[in-house]
Amino acid sequence: MVVIMKEPIQTLQEWINESQRIVFFGGAGVSTESDIPDFRSVDGLYSQKYDEPPETILSHSYFNRWPEKFFRFYRDKMLYLDAEPNAAHKKLAELEAAGKLTAVVTQNIDGLHQKAGSKSVQELHGSVLRNYCTRCHKFYPVEAVKNDPAPVPRCSCGGIIKPDVVLYEESLDDDTVNTAIHHIRQADTLIIGGTSLVVYPAASLIQYYRGNRLVLINLAPTPYDRRADLVVTGKIGEVFSQINVN
Ligand code: NAD
Repeated sequence: MVVIMKEPIQTLQEWINESQRIVFFGGAGVSTESDIPDFRSVDGLYSQKYDEPPETILSHSYFNRWPEKFFRFYRDKMLYLDAEPNAAHKKLAELEAAGKLTAVVTQNIDGLHQKAGSKSVQELHGSVLRNYCTRCHKFYPVEAVKNDPAPVPRCSCGGIIKPDVVLYEESLDDDTVNTAIHHIRQADTLIIGGTSLVVYPAASLIQYYRGNRLVLINLAPTPYDRRADLVVTGKIGEVFSQINVN
């Protein structure tokens, strides 16, 4: 277990105690303690060797051109259906239930915040749990993608079933972005965690925060560390497990 300096955690606890409209903005690092690899850590997907880089395979044009190769990678590396929420997901759900947190804004597509009990979740990059036919728009659960023996999952109408995740080259959903911005603008404390903050436009949303309690919880430094009012270096699940919800 990483030993975390007492002082930043105590400050975080005090700020949480005094806050009523916390927003959490997170990324893939929130789920590494649930055994889902992120992209940019040393053991993340970008450090593993593929014929093509993950951002190429997970792009809109690649999906259209080589759906078989897309689904081989996607089924193998993006679906972790047995993963369970960790202490960070659970504590954020507790903070919401206690009326202290208004929204989780996540870049993750794994559905673990909802599995932990969070209700107000803005999924900027969609969810692997939602899938739909590209022809007739019929909805399919993730099992239809995961378990279809065919190389490319297909609807009863013959159309390809596409995960409702935002691929590279695709735009974010306007309603999701606007709701996220609304919550970030109203936030008294913004806690950012488990994200390298290099994926845009998602990372740009934190510019809408107007308060003076910007907290960053991450293992590695980020481009926003100098803008933060408090930087906590450590594993986010271990950090949140030390926080009490009053
Ligand atoms: P990233 O891989 O670029 O960065 C992850 C960051 O989290 C790194 O800075 C790393 O140091 C930090 N980190 C890793 N484990 C941590 C932990 N336990 N505690 C604290 N910090 C930790 O991830 P990103 O910024 O979210 O951007 C990558 C994109 O990949 C996102 O768009 C996301 O949609 C997608 N993605 C999602 C999942 C998922 O849904 N779980 C998994 C992989 C990638």
